[in-house]
Amino acid sequence: MELKVFQRVMASNDAIANEYRAVLKKHNITVFNFMSAPGSGKTSLLEWTINEFKDKMRIAVIEGDIKGDLDAQRILKTGVPVYQINTDGACHLDAFMISQVLPKIDLNAFDVLFIENIGNLVCPAEFYIGADYNVMLLSTPEGSDKPTKYPLMFSRADVLLINKIDLIPYVNFNFEELTNSLNEIKPGLKILKISCKTGEGLKDWYQWLSYATNVNLVRP
Ligand code: MG
Ligand code: ZN
Repeated sequence: MELKVFQRVMASNDAIANEYRAVLKKHNITVFNFMSAPGSGKTSLLEWTINEFKDKMRIAVIEGDIKGDLDAQRILKTGVPVYQINTDGACHLDAFMISQVLPKIDLNAFDVLFIENIGNLVCPAEFYIGADYNVMLLSTPEGSDKPTKYPLMFSRADVLLINKIDLIPYVNFNFEELTNSLNEIKPGLKILKISCKTGEGLKDWYQWLSYATNVNLVRP
């Protein structure tokens, strides 16, 4: 009985997501859904990424938080528009929430939409929000065992950024354990090592993103 109810909720979620996704496609907007545990560096990655790309493409951001607008305030400083969703307790974004925000955004004015999901390794992976790409972050202090413990989240990732590689000397993070488990969960998943503290590795992420958005970077 409960399972049936859950499936019905999911079906309506996906129908809403597919509906606005078609509209976003019509406007040539590429949508990225950033997911990770709290504190992995989603907002820091967005700050770096927006500063790198804001002169090359028109970016809008949707910030998901249970409460408050601390991350939105940080993003606003980069100069791009930010639309805040407060879930008031819900630990994920769903398609209905996104559909409520989209009418506030002039879809002719943007090429890319970044959505920062609620920090959580569990249910954000269960709710399809119509993104073209799921970008997942795992920071080294969280440990290399996380794909084994939260396989659904990692199976939904289109690219995995291992953040805080500058902390590797101080934490137990075993890349072999990570790649072994990911070979089971999501074979071929693109893994990039980055530090949003030092900027190390971000060039590879920028390159991935520019391919994903079909933005032709100026060649030297
Ligand atoms: Mg954040
Ligand atoms: Zn949730």
